[in-house]
Amino acid sequence: MREFAFVRATSVADALTAIGSADTMCIAGGVELLNLMREGICAPGTLVDLSGITELSQVSMTGSALVIGALARISDVAADADVVHECPAIAQALEQIGSPQIRNAGTVGGNLLQRTRCAYFRNGTIDVPCNKRTPGSGCAALLAGATRAFALFGRSSRCIATHPSDLAVALAALDAQIVVRGPGGERVLAAQDFLRTPGTTPQRDHNMKANELLVRIIVPRGALARQSVYLKVRDRAAYQSALVSVAAAVTLQGKTIKRAAIALGGVAHRPWRLASVEAAIQGKRHDKPEFHDALVTAMLAIPPKSADATKRAIAMRAVERALREAVAL
Ligand code: SF4
Repeated sequence: MREFAFVRATSVADALTAIGSADTMCIAGGVELLNLMREGICAPGTLVDLSGITELSQVSMTGSALVIGALARISDVAADADVVHECPAIAQALEQIGSPQIRNAGTVGGNLLQRTRCAYFRNGTIDVPCNKRTPGSGCAALLAGATRAFALFGRSSRCIATHPSDLAVALAALDAQIVVRGPGGERVLAAQDFLRTPGTTPQRDHNMKANELLVRIIVPRGALARQSVYLKVRDRAAYQSALVSVAAAVTLQGKTIKRAAIALGGVAHRPWRLASVEAAIQGKRHDKPEFHDALVTAMLAIPPKSADATKRAIAMRAVERALREAVAL
């Protein structure tokens, strides 16, 4: 392994002083970064250890929002009674991440900043073309005609990978905000815009700058967040990324859907909000066939139609099941 310098930060100001250069990277739980270093995907010259910044590890509830520090441990947030009660989709998403060891070591910020599980990207062989790993080298997944594990939506001719964060999907559905801090102060990004589509620069996963730190997550409290669920579909019940996941939240008036919020995971390079489906089921009674009919019609209308039919069908069924679980809460 290549030698690197190791800097311990004990405050956000410390960390901001240390980051910014191209070969400096941050480490907190170490779950993802050590894998990336072992796989030869990155080789930082300096590692900045954030784990001593206690101000970023708190979970708190204000009158209007749940506030989660970026360095809060996944298992701590998943078990937090306020999170379970006020934002069940977030607790459920966190509970289904990786393994108990990963949830105990990993942080919520690290979960958002993890990289794709595309097997070609993770492959240690440098002659496998991958635009995310080596920009301009090509895309082995596209060359192989890969489908099932790859994106349905927001694909580009450079990359068809998906992002594996469960938490990002729940945050996108609940209109959460991601707060980042840089030398000039704080910036607030909508959770659904924090991760990006690959476009012509698939090497970039998110919209944070190199000299910024992710500091906290803000989730609005209210009826929508309280009536939310997270459903994860995968081949085995643990330690696997979603083939498809759904975060769904509703508010009801009797049996009529007043408002719905739906985000899909495992289908794009970022969480994929289903605005047209949300609009289609608004005002429909969830106990009547009109609900199912509107949902299916809206799901089938989402382009591109050419994307993998099996995965689309799984996504459609998962959305309906998640919504039925949400209305039953
Ligand atoms: Fe690389 Fe993206 Fe292609 Fe996977 S899908 S091989 S991550 S460029």
